[in-house]
Amino acid sequence: MPTRLVKVTPSKLSTWGSCRRRYRMTYLDRPAPPRGGAWAHSTLGAVVHAALRSFYDTAPPRRTVEAARVAVATAWSGEGFADAAQQARYRERAQDWVARYVTENDPTQVDAVGLERWVSAPVGTVVVEGRVDRLDSRRQPEAPEGEEVVVVDYKTGRRPLTEHDTRSSQALALYVLASRRTLRRPCRRVELHHLPTGEVHAFDHTAESLARQLARAEEQAAEIALHTDTLAAGADGDELFPASPGAQCSWCDLRRSCPEGRAAAPGLDPWAGLAP
Ligand code: SF4
Repeated sequence: MPTRLVKVTPSKLSTWGSCRRRYRMTYLDRPAPPRGGAWAHSTLGAVVHAALRSFYDTAPPRRTVEAARVAVATAWSGEGFADAAQQARYRERAQDWVARYVTENDPTQVDAVGLERWVSAPVGTVVVEGRVDRLDSRRQPEAPEGEEVVVVDYKTGRRPLTEHDTRSSQALALYVLASRRTLRRPCRRVELHHLPTGEVHAFDHTAESLARQLARAEEQAAEIALHTDTLAAGADGDELFPASPGAQCSWCDLRRSCPEGRAAAPGLDPWAGLAP
């Protein structure tokens, strides 16, 4: 029998790797269990992503610092914040982040060939899918063929990032593979752009590093397919998809449907993830 291609997204694989109960509730249980309300830090991240998307969707001469600040104000949402005063503080902080970002990284030189672009391609035994924050066409000094596509991922979390985060990111590696096939262009460089610190961390994938990440994804996808089919055949869902209680349960959107998770970690205010 030919091998069945399994569709995977980086977030599916990440959820599978962190908690199988959460995977089942997110992707398999229907009707889907109710989710918790919005987190302020997630809203902040979504606002920054939306602002940068609209900013780079304009012609280069219009990509000014003021335009970046306006883009944040236009995209703003107060979901999850404690009150208007807290919203105002973080709106200004987000505006400062993007203002510094476009000051330190000349936006008129960015040739974005994809903004929140959906990429999808069969690779090995899986179909890799996902939405990439930005795909740049850029001349790489060591690329004799000319311009290559660069995968850019914006980050807004509290923790500063390192080159290791870029190198070890399964999501970025899978985006390289899917972008190559979707755009039919060379692609190997991945970059994490951390707005709170203004740092950019880059890594150039090799055939070996991509093969390692793909092999891991294929292994996870095969496990997911087997567990999904076994559940559909009538097996016990709690045994097949056990809970992984721990500190992560404080942040889980599905904790209200998970007694083990509620017992393992306390609930938090919706704004608890904001940097002080
Ligand atoms: S609350 Fe914890 S154990 Fe329960 S689904 Fe969420 S992450 Fe998994």
